[in-house]
Amino acid sequence: MAVQYSVHDDVALLAISYPPVNALGYEVRKGLLECSGKAFADQSIKALVIVGEGKTFPAGADVSEFSKGTTAEFPLTEVIAHIEAGPKPVIAAIHGTALGGGLELALGCHFRLAVPSAKVGLPEVHLGIIPGAGGTQRLPRVTPAVKAAEIISSGVHLSAQAALKAGILDRVIPAGEDLRTAALAVARSLMSSPLDSMRVSGRPVVGGREALSELAALKSVVAKKARGMKSPVACVEAVQAAVESASFEDGMNEEMRIMFELFTDPQARALQYAFFAERQAKKVPELQQLSPSDRPAQVQSVGIIGAGTMGAGIAVCFLDAGIPVVLVDMQQAALDRGVGYIQHTYDSKVKSKRMAPATAEKRMSMLRGALDYGAVSEVDLVVEAAFEGMAIKKDIFGKLDKICKADTILATNTSTLDIDVIASATFRPDKVVGMHFFSPANIMMLLEVVKGKASSKRTLATAFALAGPLKKVAVMVGNCHGFVGNRMVYTYGAEAVFLVEEGASPAQVDGVLEKFGLAMGPLKMSDLAGLDVSWRVRQVRRELACDGHPPK
Ligand code: NAD
Repeated sequence: MAVQYSVHDDVALLAISYPPVNALGYEVRKGLLECSGKAFADQSIKALVIVGEGKTFPAGADVSEFSKGTTAEFPLTEVIAHIEAGPKPVIAAIHGTALGGGLELALGCHFRLAVPSAKVGLPEVHLGIIPGAGGTQRLPRVTPAVKAAEIISSGVHLSAQAALKAGILDRVIPAGEDLRTAALAVARSLMSSPLDSMRVSGRPVVGGREALSELAALKSVVAKKARGMKSPVACVEAVQAAVESASFEDGMNEEMRIMFELFTDPQARALQYAFFAERQAKKVPELQQLSPSDRPAQVQSVGIIGAGTMGAGIAVCFLDAGIPVVLVDMQQAALDRGVGYIQHTYDSKVKSKRMAPATAEKRMSMLRGALDYGAVSEVDLVVEAAFEGMAIKKDIFGKLDKICKADTILATNTSTLDIDVIASATFRPDKVVGMHFFSPANIMMLLEVVKGKASSKRTLATAFALAGPLKKVAVMVGNCHGFVGNRMVYTYGAEAVFLVEEGASPAQVDGVLEKFGLAMGPLKMSDLAGLDVSWRVRQVRRELACDGHPPK
């Protein structure tokens, strides 16, 4: 049973039990409809509580249904309307993350109660769509319309406190208090209260028509930032419809119209494809069900060799994850530049109020610079990000092998070089792996974990598991020239350069692609990565005598 029904004196408790995240799939929607119907019909029941079993309130729709078309049966919109229109108060008791359909369900309830660690949000925009079960119409009825549009168009997750302040939640219980007990008490206190004012759909939009000018201004800001992506703009338009429509029902119709238009658009399909691809990438067959000795090692300190573009960016990733870093370069000036970059990164975060000064100070205090490899002798992991050249890498790995403690994992950030040849410079090839970050390393999400022929499961699992704290998407890739990301970039970059050869200016080439929606054109990207890096890569390719196509 995806929804378990239990009676607590005169309150019915509907516990959603659909692991792992209680997504609002067919079984859950059907269960909610049936169980709420049963409670509404039972004279001895005076109120209902909806809660999630396990770690969370529903964390969203069951996205796997999108392609199956089963969302048409027991649509969530109707389940929510049924609950909201019911004759008895329904309390949403939230823990974990009430996201997407989960928050829409909560907004259809008559009272929203949460634990302090809960998070809420409507992240549908990231899948190329809008919240389509009343989220765009109910949210602006509990929080000012412009705020609702900001929340929906950005897909941001709000903390329980922020959601309480915004009016999205009605109460946050103190830490340590039992959610179910608190929800049952609220249910009892509301049993004889009139329901009308508790039905969000019956309330006016917060701010009324006066919000329209601010919404129009927000729409142009969102459109500019979205660079051709349709869903963020559509989110604002759906909230505009909530303000402009004569009734809640009219607004719901408009929400549905916008949703259908986006749903069949190639952008939504592409974003949903990416969503599933990211999920799939996490399931590396050989890293499932690991024996205790293969489980990821605890990485409590990291050494980074090379304080250049990548080394400094990678250091920021580890510092942000709370892992102390020793940054090593062979030149004082290069080391100073690297440390300066890291300092500047935190200074600008503090300046723009994205980080508290004390946090920035704490992160910097976990960084140590050195000119000597001896400084990394005790670290758990070394990430090498020195110049791209096989002789240099082999020399560094040979030295690290002698200096580092026996179980230190040695990773290289090489863009193209053969991991097995690098590993051959050590007596621990099983502990050598590629950890290929992309520039700027502290911003780009992708982390290629390159599997050498001797890399042990434990080494791979350690590199892979770091993606979590580093907030990266790890993808396991084979050991070949350019791995996966750069093999794709070769062709893309070559076409861009051909256009320049044929007479287009670099600004024109980049301009067209940026207008299309890419964050940065390919030529600007080469500048950022460093033209010297591609020069070194081309030298290697020449040595490997690969004509036009990447080798192996
Ligand atoms: P960079 O030239 O900016 O920095 C390299 C740094 O390494 C310099 O500060 C240099 O002084 C230092 N160094 C060189 N040899 C050293 C040694 N033996 N010991 C200690 N320090 C040494 O280069 P980068 O762009 O940061 O690239 C570093 C590595 O990362 C390369 O392997 C490159 O292929 C790879 N990579 C680069 C990018 C990119 O976009 N730049 C992206 C992914 C991977």
